[in-house]
Amino acid sequence: MTHGIRTTPMQPSPGTEPWPDGVTARYLTVAGATVDVRGSGDNVSMTCLGCDLGYSAFGEARTRELAQGHAEKCRALPRPAVTG
Ligand SMILES: [Zn+2]
Repeated sequence: MTHGIRTTPMQPSPGTEPWPDGVTARYLTVAGATVDVRGSGDNVSMTCLGCDLGYSAFGEARTRELAQGHAEKCRALPRPAVTG
């Protein structure tokens, strides 16, 4: 007989969610969105999932710098996940 042990679901956190395919680096913004970096070498792009800002063709090192710099400033909230 079970007594309905209730487990509180953990709040999903960008730090523990699996990363989408192709994402090689991910920066958490101050608002809780993420800036995803994809690709490698000269074919790297970044996308902010808060405000949809995207850069590409800056090269890997520069793109990561841009992504980190943007994550420190972006205050756009992530879009709520659409379910159903
Ligand atoms: Zn942003």
